[in-house]
Amino acid sequence: MTEKACKECGRITEENECPVCRNNDLADSWGGTVLVMNPEDSEIAERLGVNTPGTYAVRTR
Ligand SMILES: [Zn+2]
Repeated sequence: MTEKACKECGRITEENECPVCRNNDLADSWGGTVLVMNPEDSEIAERLGVNTPGTYAVRTR
């Protein structure tokens, strides 16, 4: 199983496209991950521009 990170929103996925924004431009490497449980009151979610709970990459390239 291979995890990839969406370059648009940073979402970590095992699919070939991002389940959040349907982007298929996925990164193989990233700086770190963050688990977003409650996007509405999460500062990091706000910073990442995330509004769906899940695991996100901090930095993609
Ligand atoms: Zn995405």
